[in-house]
Amino acid sequence: MFKKKIAAKGDKTIQTLMKIVGPGAVLHHKEDLTAYECDGFTLHKGMPKAVVFPTTTEEVSKIVTFLYEENIPFIARGAGTGLSGGAIPMGGEVIISLVKMKKLLHVDFENRQAVVQPGFVNLKLTNSIADKGYYYAPDPSSQYCCTIGGNVAENAGGAHCLKYGVTTNHILGLEVVLPNGEVIQIADEGIPDVPGYDLMGLLTGSEGTMGIVTKITVRILKNPEDKKTVLAYFDNIADASFAVSDIISAGIVPAALEMMDETAIEGVEAAAFPVGHPKGLKALLLIEVDGISCGIEDQINEILDVCRKRNVREVKVAADEQERARWWANRKTGFGAMGAISPDYLVQDGVIPRSKLPEVLERINQISNAYDLRIANIFHAGDGNLHPLILFDARIPGETERALEAGSQCLKACADAGGSITGEHGVGIEKKEEMRFIFTDEEINAQTEIRDVFNPNNLLNPGKLFPSPGRCAEIKQELKKVTT
Ligand SMILES: Cc1cc2nc3c(=O)[nH]c(=O)nc-3n(C[C@H](O)[C@H](O)[C@H](O)COP(=O)(O)OP(=O)(O)OC[C@H]3O[C@@H](n4cnc5c(N)ncnc54)[C@H](O)[C@@H]3O)c2cc1C
Repeated sequence: MFKKKIAAKGDKTIQTLMKIVGPGAVLHHKEDLTAYECDGFTLHKGMPKAVVFPTTTEEVSKIVTFLYEENIPFIARGAGTGLSGGAIPMGGEVIISLVKMKKLLHVDFENRQAVVQPGFVNLKLTNSIADKGYYYAPDPSSQYCCTIGGNVAENAGGAHCLKYGVTTNHILGLEVVLPNGEVIQIADEGIPDVPGYDLMGLLTGSEGTMGIVTKITVRILKNPEDKKTVLAYFDNIADASFAVSDIISAGIVPAALEMMDETAIEGVEAAAFPVGHPKGLKALLLIEVDGISCGIEDQINEILDVCRKRNVREVKVAADEQERARWWANRKTGFGAMGAISPDYLVQDGVIPRSKLPEVLERINQISNAYDLRIANIFHAGDGNLHPLILFDARIPGETERALEAGSQCLKACADAGGSITGEHGVGIEKKEEMRFIFTDEEINAQTEIRDVFNPNNLLNPGKLFPSPGRCAEIKQELKKVTT
């Protein structure tokens, strides 16, 4: 009897979703849903109830209104490249996939802004405006497939965010469907300095827990007049780390300042885009400066000087655009390249003050030894955003658990160094408990209370971002029980 009731409710859900978007835009068979059990964080899986593909804000609003009234949980999903499990169902949610809302709606070169739907792929924006000499600055390494909606939700970063800032610095306006189906416009069409609370700041990086973004106005930038790219090879990882701090403290802000250690270099050289880096390196830096032509040469010379003072083995400037592109392909495909040297890998994402690089990299080395797992480091060194890649073999019993624990210890090392547990990949499902490394119960409760204003029934993306209730929340719940 009970089972029958559930099946009927399931049918009603599917039927209503089909009425809103058409039968071809709803997946509900188990074999179709399997692809949506996880995102780029593959160590946790959950089965959704259905996946629905709206094409307009109105459809998103109708879907959300229905789910809200029926008390059915739901999740927004872009390309599913998230690395912290933000788009993974806990079980039974309806996934609202935004990938069919993929139009570039408007480009306004005069005011240097563009309006996109959330499923518009990041790199496509730059490609669409390149012929006019413009580009979109935030460049996550996944930019060839991740969506701008997903970038807003995660406040995505990228190699060139050191100088230009992360996603939040490039968002001028949002249209958002709230978890009850209402549609709101925030700083519509990029009007600067709107009075009232900074809702755009609040929504950006909220990991899909406060609303579903259905339209985004972004800042676009004019291509820099000139750029130059440097590769610096080191025989000692501490020298490379000190060079990073020295470059910034010399007053230079490179467009990008990336680092790879010995294991990461082994991986990228064994994969699809090898550069032919010399053998036996302990670290390399990939540094890019851009701006008006006349200042570039001086900055490059200063960078070369710093590297020489830090005992660089070899340092070279890309001869042409082709060589530069090869170096960047080698770096930007770095995560996937680990597949060439390990059956599995777990990407971590912590932040530290730049000056602590040598000591935290040493701590990560100790964690690698303690857990008997290789850890490669490939990261945005300029902004202290580490990506320890923990290499493991899921076929060996216990190794997955060891990798997860080693990852958590790397985040603890970042937190202990005065940093944070995420620089750009978000907390999602993966790092909920690690939130306790940097926040007290009271601080976590303050944040969940803000979320609850937008998402009072916690139907939108439940079970993400925050650890299970802290002490304060538990006390409050007990008090509530006593007083009601
Ligand atoms: C190889 C690789 C390299 C990467 N490199 C980087 C990098 O350099 N920098 C970086 O920051 N990240 C990087 N990532 C992580 C990932 O690509 C980013 O987090 C990206 O922003 C996710 O976009 P997506 O479209 O795939 O979103 P999804 O993975 O589909 O979703 C991510 C989160 O956003 C929410 N969401 C998605 N769309 C919306 C919407 N329209 N409204 C509200 N919430 C929404 C989801 O609910 C989920 O919580 C990398 C990932 C991979 C696989």
